[in-house]
Amino acid sequence: MKRQLKKFGVDDETLERYKDLFAAINQAYKEFDDDVHHLENVLEVNSKELFVANKKLKEENLSKSREALVLSDKLDKVMDNVTDIIFELDGEGNFTYLNTAWEKYGEESPEESIGKNYMSFADRIEYFDSKAFQKIDQRNFTSFKTVYSRRNSQGKLLWWEMSVKLLTKASGKVDGAIGSLVDVTSLKETQEQLIKASEVKGRFLSTMSHEIRTPLNAVIAISNILLMQNPKESQMENLQALKFSSKHLLNLINDILDYNKMLSGNLTFSNVPFNFRFTIDGIIKAFTYTAKEKGLELEVNISDSVPEGLIGDHTRLSQVLSNLIGNAIKFTNTGRVTLAIACIHKGQDNCQLSFEVADTGIGIAEDKLEYIFERFTQAEEDTSLRFGGTGLGLAISKKIVNLLNSEINVESQQGIGTRFWFDLNYEIVQKQSLVELDSSVEKTFDLTGIKLLVVDDNEMNIAVIEQFFRKWNIEYDTASNGKEALDMIQASEYSLVLMDLRMPIMDGYTAVRKLRALGGEYMELPVIALSASVSIDVMQKVKDVGMNDYLCKPFDPEDLYAKISAQALRPALMRVAQKAKS
Ligand code: ADP
Repeated sequence: MKRQLKKFGVDDETLERYKDLFAAINQAYKEFDDDVHHLENVLEVNSKELFVANKKLKEENLSKSREALVLSDKLDKVMDNVTDIIFELDGEGNFTYLNTAWEKYGEESPEESIGKNYMSFADRIEYFDSKAFQKIDQRNFTSFKTVYSRRNSQGKLLWWEMSVKLLTKASGKVDGAIGSLVDVTSLKETQEQLIKASEVKGRFLSTMSHEIRTPLNAVIAISNILLMQNPKESQMENLQALKFSSKHLLNLINDILDYNKMLSGNLTFSNVPFNFRFTIDGIIKAFTYTAKEKGLELEVNISDSVPEGLIGDHTRLSQVLSNLIGNAIKFTNTGRVTLAIACIHKGQDNCQLSFEVADTGIGIAEDKLEYIFERFTQAEEDTSLRFGGTGLGLAISKKIVNLLNSEINVESQQGIGTRFWFDLNYEIVQKQSLVELDSSVEKTFDLTGIKLLVVDDNEMNIAVIEQFFRKWNIEYDTASNGKEALDMIQASEYSLVLMDLRMPIMDGYTAVRKLRALGGEYMELPVIALSASVSIDVMQKVKDVGMNDYLCKPFDPEDLYAKISAQALRPALMRVAQKAKS
């Protein structure tokens, strides 16, 4: 710097005077150079680091995208090998993704269909759940499943199970949907075959029950008639045994039929008023003879608070109690069988009753207790040989009590006895209706003076009924088919018709349909169907054609009497009611 200043004519003295300044300037330059140098060094190091980091990042990215490619390739392969169709739709319902399985549905490749609207494939749909399809149209769902059928281009009907999930944006706006279509055709075909097989089984059982019940009807009825004819003491015993065995056989047939109905979900319950004590009385009477024969005491305790008239299904209650009491007597050799009924809760309109059947019999081993309610299961292997039975009774009773929203409980000690108990809810019949209820079960109603028409093609059946009618002083005519019956009804005046259902020339259903169509007094003429079938369909059909009641063959003479009384009484009661009105 001194040299530069001398060049410009600055003398030595001046230079000497400012030497400190020049030294400071020199120092500043030097420091600046040093800083530049240092910065250059730092920059070089940083850019080297940056280069390494950048390289590493690039490598990592490359491997990641390679991995992603492999994964997406794998996913594509999986999707294309899935036999079910997977789809994705955008917010407008256009396909944005379809896997290869789609070819089975649209008969075009996924590439051809992508971009098309799902509605372009809604043609040839035959069965569908309109509510489910409405949801799709309105995008009004989060996720759901539905089954529908569609014919393919070759005309084959295919069944599809569709699952869809709606995709929404954070704003809540519909963004599209994803879902799957599963070909359930073979499942559906198997299901239809099963339904057909079960219908065939049902029909077979109905025919079989008819075939078995018809001769059984004759056996039970004849034993009843013989018992009514004051037999000798020695004959009495054999007749009771005959009646008991045929009734037992009938119960077995009923059990098998009932269980079958349960399996097909067809067990129905009636909800009618009934006289509770009368029902229990009937059950106990049926067992008095067997209990006495075994030297057992049969005790009944009904607490006073149990209402007289209840509304419910008394037949099913009788079925459960009869099964429990029947078992108690069967598995007890000495001592007592007790039926105890109490009222646990009583309101204005309904009550809860507790039922208990206890015995002092052989008991059940603890480890067998949980199995005895299973169908065809008996506590011991030799039970069937020693005591008979099918192992169905408790399975049916349990199911009935379950369907009435309750449970059967059991407690037992081997060699000491067994106790079964359950609770049931019933509506209470109000006092004023009780009189009517009692009159409907009045068994001493005088049937003399009424005239019946019995329509049945089976001579044995007519012969059996005739015996009862003679005993009850009922006047009657007979017809052997529906057509003959229709002619006779129009030619004469009858109080009531007993109508068989299956008959040649004209069956019972057709005859009653035609009878009701005649109008006027023929609309009111009481008709009781007589049939060996207990199928629910038959009972419904009987009601639908306009018959008033139904009696299942083989019938108890008491039942026949009660039903004839109730029906014969009906027009008389109606006349009284009409008179009272006018
Ligand atoms: P079944 O009486 O036709 O054999 P159930 O289903 O009515 O069929 O009964 C199943 C089994 O439970 C009977 O076989 C018997 O082993 C046992 N069981 C039922 N009730 C009693 C009872 N009161 N005492 C002893 N064992 C009983």
